Amino acid sequence: MKKHLLVFALFGLCTAAVRALPQNSPVPGGIAVLDLGPQGQPTPSARWADRPLAVVSENGHWYALLGIPLDTLPGELDVAVTQGAAKRSLVVPVRPKNYPEQRLTIKDKRKVEPNPDDLARIAREQKITEAVKQRFSDAMPDTTFKLPANGPLSSRFGLKRIFNGLPRNPHAGLDVAVGTGAPVHAPADGVVANTGDYFFNGNTVFIDHGQGLISAYMHLSRVDVREGQKVRKGELIGAVGATGRVTGPHLHWAVIMNNTPVDPELLLSRP
Ligand code: ZN
Repeated sequence: MKKHLLVFALFGLCTAAVRALPQNSPVPGGIAVLDLGPQGQPTPSARWADRPLAVVSENGHWYALLGIPLDTLPGELDVAVTQGAAKRSLVVPVRPKNYPEQRLTIKDKRKVEPNPDDLARIAREQKITEAVKQRFSDAMPDTTFKLPANGPLSSRFGLKRIFNGLPRNPHAGLDVAVGTGAPVHAPADGVVANTGDYFFNGNTVFIDHGQGLISAYMHLSRVDVREGQKVRKGELIGAVGATGRVTGPHLHWAVIMNNTPVDPELLLSRP
């Protein structure tokens, strides 16, 4: 509530456009914003596919935020809601979304067809990053993000990717076209959950914003934070680079909710 008064004071007439919840987009790779009813005690909790969901308060209501996996088929998902002794099920209809295809040429062929040593390294790294993506801390997250780098958006979330003619995983983040050395800022308050130099992602920073909302910054030339460090919205965390599997320097920004990559643009505040 206090935050609203401040936003109102700062933006005056623009307040109507200020949005604190993510944009509701119940599609594969999107976020379903689920109204759990008026804000009262006890605080509700929500789960889907055996994972807890973030529950945030806004305008006197509780909302659960469901990250929908990119490979979800159109249909209905059942979210289990618990409030005190009361249990209920919320049905979430998932609409189809067809993401465009993108063909890229990578000069370093090992980044597309890794050798056995690379595959062993990739498997080790996946264990680490999977554990980071599964974190669920208590803090209620700020879900109004600021774009972490100052530049045009290039490759959007969800593109079906073909590297050197070979189909690979879809683009699970948003690219910002900025040159090596450009500053990267935290989009919201959080705690640095992990930093590392990974085979595909290059130098990477993960930030835990609370309740399973995790963001990641990849291909960095420089990392300016360390694991466990608290960061504030807008704080410098590193610099753009071209490490890992890239066609050139840019920031790859990923946002994860309930262990699911979602379209970061759904959390960006818009004027
Ligand atoms: Zn990317």
